[in-house]
Amino acid sequence: MVDIQHKQAKSILNKASGFIDSYDYTLNPYSGCTFGCSYCYAAFFTPTDELQETWGQWVQVKENALELLRKKRKRPLIDQTLYMSSVTDPYQPVERKLELVRSLLRELLDYHRVRLVVQTRSPLVTRDIDLLREFKFVRVHMTVTTDDETVRKAFEPTCPSNQQRLDAITEVAAAGIPTAITMTPLLPVRDPESFAKSLLATGARKFVVQEFHLTRTRYAAGTGAHATKLAQQMGWNAAQYQHVKHTLRAALPNLYEGKAGFVPEW
Ligand code: SF4
Repeated sequence: MVDIQHKQAKSILNKASGFIDSYDYTLNPYSGCTFGCSYCYAAFFTPTDELQETWGQWVQVKENALELLRKKRKRPLIDQTLYMSSVTDPYQPVERKLELVRSLLRELLDYHRVRLVVQTRSPLVTRDIDLLREFKFVRVHMTVTTDDETVRKAFEPTCPSNQQRLDAITEVAAAGIPTAITMTPLLPVRDPESFAKSLLATGARKFVVQEFHLTRTRYAAGTGAHATKLAQQMGWNAAQYQHVKHTLRAALPNLYEGKAGFVPEW
């Protein structure tokens, strides 16, 4: 059962920092994330222990997001880089009904000239292809972490399937929109060669891989105790990661690792 809350946000564009400090701003239309990945680092940015413990079961809609963005019309963003989103997935299931992201994209197109990266794992992004293709500088990043549905269901039980994500990014790429596939973090892979082929077949020409950290480090990508336990049970370790990465590197052009893969490039 998902708890959908509504709130008034103080701001909608925030100075980018940390892993994505090469961008000017982050844009998070929602707080929380009902995809609830077991390894999610964003859970640690919640203000209370209760919200952290129930991560994945709630989402807060920033209901004044468009109003806040409209206030920027007086001083339009020109050639600034935006990363949407850093601590949520912008294409939450509730976005289908609310169309909040869609309204923000329309506003950005009509009143600003930004360079936009959209980071998601949801096929709902295809709904906005008509708008995304109007941006002069845009790239859609699709997160795909494994080729194995059993692994996906273990780590990301409420996320879209691997195939749905591959189909969606194929559709985005086919529309002429630059795309990337982010394997962040890379989870156990059943068949690295055929995984690489399936990624390449989407039409994406940029790939990013990142190691699943088997630590409890507060802000590392592999954080949750449950996810760490799953990885250990599956024998997923640094040596396995290096092996799969080596195969991916041989098959995929433009394979970046970690933070370097997120640099906006424009
Ligand atoms: S989709 Fe992204 S923000 Fe949402 S739970 Fe998964 S890793 Fe966290």
